[in-house]
Amino acid sequence: MDLPAQLSSLLPAGAVLTGDDMSAYLQDWWGRQTGSALFVTLPKTTEDVAAIVRACANAGHAIVPQGGRTGLTGAGVPGAGDRPPVILSLSRMRSIRKIDAINGSIDVDAGCVLSDVQSAAIAADRLFPVSLGAEGSCQIGGIISTNAGGTNVLRYGTTRENVLGLEVVLPDGMIWNGMKALRKDNSGYALRHMFIGAEGTLGIVTGAVLKLHSLPKAHATAWVGVSDRELALRLLNRLQSCCGERLTTFELMNAEQLASVIAHRPVVASPADAAWHLLIELADMSAPEFLSEMLLAALGAAMNAGEILDAVIAQNGIQRDNFWALRHGTADANRNVGHLLPADISVPVSAVPQFLNTASAAVRNRFPGAQIVVVSHMGDGNVHFGVRFSHRDWSSHDDPGGTEVAVRTIMNDCADALGGSFTAEHGIGRKLADELRTRSDEAGYQSMQRLKKVFDPHGTMNPGCVLREHDQLS
Ligand SMILES: Cc1cc2nc3c(=O)[nH]c(=O)nc-3n(C[C@H](O)[C@H](O)[C@H](O)COP(=O)(O)OP(=O)(O)OC[C@H]3O[C@@H](n4cnc5c(N)ncnc54)[C@H](O)[C@@H]3O)c2cc1C
Repeated sequence: MDLPAQLSSLLPAGAVLTGDDMSAYLQDWWGRQTGSALFVTLPKTTEDVAAIVRACANAGHAIVPQGGRTGLTGAGVPGAGDRPPVILSLSRMRSIRKIDAINGSIDVDAGCVLSDVQSAAIAADRLFPVSLGAEGSCQIGGIISTNAGGTNVLRYGTTRENVLGLEVVLPDGMIWNGMKALRKDNSGYALRHMFIGAEGTLGIVTGAVLKLHSLPKAHATAWVGVSDRELALRLLNRLQSCCGERLTTFELMNAEQLASVIAHRPVVASPADAAWHLLIELADMSAPEFLSEMLLAALGAAMNAGEILDAVIAQNGIQRDNFWALRHGTADANRNVGHLLPADISVPVSAVPQFLNTASAAVRNRFPGAQIVVVSHMGDGNVHFGVRFSHRDWSSHDDPGGTEVAVRTIMNDCADALGGSFTAEHGIGRKLADELRTRSDEAGYQSMQRLKKVFDPHGTMNPGCVLREHDQLS
């Protein structure tokens, strides 16, 4: 019996897909990367996952673990030139296993969609704070494996800071049960941190214990126009001084980015007329009027100091949702308007304006016809810097590959010069594996190679992702 037939006989009905039934699982979110696979498996339990992994290990097949396929670096789908692997999708593992509001923890299957976990937490009067534009599709295993950030990192940290325990199927099929719901546990190496951000290269996350927080009862949300990114930084400093921990969101975008969101899906008009726009949110347990007054006072002082041009505070939930729709609409607009070369860099928060200045000048100098679109989680130092070409200019490019490399080099050199990182929250995937090799400290890269060998000696877990395939076993 061949492997798909063998697994079909072991697993629940419909758990193995072949041929055209696989097509949806082969394409990344951008629609730019399509590889092939031997077959797709859809396990329902951790034991199913272990059985699939053992069978693939025995047959010498590589595995690509897959969540909601919203990753932006081509990590969750096979690459075009790769030896076809087996895709293991967690999408049928969607149970909320347990919720303990007093302990502030929730135990979930890795295939749970992020927004379902957020809703379950709210139903228990708690908050799971990781929030991002893809939250209606991305899975818990996916956000753990990419250590996703999003719009609340300023206050609650990245996914890493919100994971207490994990259950993982290792590359030989053993199940590691690390589902501890503890704030303090110094019993040996903190294994869970090996798998967070590992992009499926060390094992398959099947379950997680996530940290819950108090659910804020009030929000105050503002859309603010500023003339300059330096002034945005001053405003951030002001809000941190006067609002402290209540400041949960401080997101920046340029006018070009906002215009493309509105052009792509005209949900609402621009709330302000300015070169730079900020979405700011405060949240806490106090009365809504108190929070709005605090924000109003801070913005009033900023206006008097000449830091801001215009500010609109949301008067109700609909207005707040509209502001957020503009922010969350950036990814879709960037996928559909022109041909975007995206970068996801981070620098110290205080260096964001300097990064924007130097990167913009270098891009304008090299590609005068390109448009620059910026959307930044400015409060945590993360800048999504896009260089956009019209479809006509892009299709007439004689060296698109060379242009991609040139843009990437400009971005990453500018970030490096400020002590930054070439990948803030989207990870390495297949796309940036060369970049990791060339920009890593030698001892750091060799340590990653050794770590990979310890967990995955035969290199079958998501080969070519994070470490280049020929670096994995050397
Ligand atoms: C509209 C949009 C907005 C976004 N906004 C943000 C943002 O603000 N911040 C941010 O950080 N990211 C953002 N992202 C990208 C983000 O990385 C993904 O949304 C998410 O983290 C990936 O989850 P996923 O379930 O889709 O994983 P996939 O894309 O399916 O996989 C991503 C990686 O995780 C691995 N993986 C998936 N599940 C498992 C598992 N169970 N065990 C082991 N490995 C696994 C895959 O092999 C792959 O390496 C955005 C993406 C989109 C499309």
